[in-house]
Amino acid sequence: MGGGWTATAMTGAPAPESLSRAIAAYLGLALGDALGATVEFMTPREIVAAHGVHDRIRGGGWLRLRAGQVTDDTTMSLALGEAILTAGTVDALYVARAFDAWMRAKPVDIGNTVRRGIIGFRTRGVPVAPVSDHDAGNGAAMRVLPVALAGHRRPEATLREWCRTQARVTHHNPLSDAACECLALMTRDALAGAGRDQLLDRHAEALIARHPEFEYRARRRENPSGYVVETLQAVFQALAATDDFRACLIDVVNRGGDADTTGAIAGMLAGALYGPDALPPAWLNALDHETRAACQRQAADLMGLDGVAT
Ligand code: MG
Ligand code: MG
Repeated sequence: MGGGWTATAMTGAPAPESLSRAIAAYLGLALGDALGATVEFMTPREIVAAHGVHDRIRGGGWLRLRAGQVTDDTTMSLALGEAILTAGTVDALYVARAFDAWMRAKPVDIGNTVRRGIIGFRTRGVPVAPVSDHDAGNGAAMRVLPVALAGHRRPEATLREWCRTQARVTHHNPLSDAACECLALMTRDALAGAGRDQLLDRHAEALIARHPEFEYRARRRENPSGYVVETLQAVFQALAATDDFRACLIDVVNRGGDADTTGAIAGMLAGALYGPDALPPAWLNALDHETRAACQRQAADLMGLDGVAT
């Protein structure tokens, strides 16, 4: 594998380059969410009719958002990140309590599986959803970033375990687990300086080898649903077809469907890959200011958590 990037030691402060990529990943997640939410549940044809190419953060959409407002993809990530910082690790009970508090605060949107999982926790007190073949939605994958940041210098087995712990609070499904682990490993490697092709060759290929349904090159994925397989196919295609942050996000959200979530996931990966200088200033200025500050602060705190013995 070329590129010459190496994992850093597990102690001390994060490398400045990794830290700036982590902040860009978190801002990228929020930007993709805010951009995509305008066209969530629209078809590509409807998007063209309404906006031509949708390339501005303008709010609206079925949620009638303010320009720059984010949805559950970002706010659940922030709730998960706070739980990790409070616990000093990824602890299912802390995560479940944080999601419970998040739902009580009446978020702007919430997925069905997430709602069922949180209500299940309230009812049974157990922070693990029952195994389900029907829980292969993208709701656990969309919020995996805090785990990738907190675990970026941990052994791969630990990072994978943390992914599953956070995911299974609401989604207990092998495809969801595999998607979360793949995205966290891609993000970790991008923070360390790996390139786009390395991420796809290493991690998308490994995912497809275990779960062939994730194969993304066969045909163009438009109008991706909330099924995590379709979500990742659209994201991988947009990543492979572009070589900068802005183009990647415009590509993925104009496919419509679950566009805030494909936008958020693509934004996380492209932010980590291309770094803070690639984030369009007009988009950053349009992003809700409190959200922007929270993402920056939490990214730094989570990166600093790693290396602390738990
Ligand atoms: Mg959303
Ligand atoms: Mg969505």
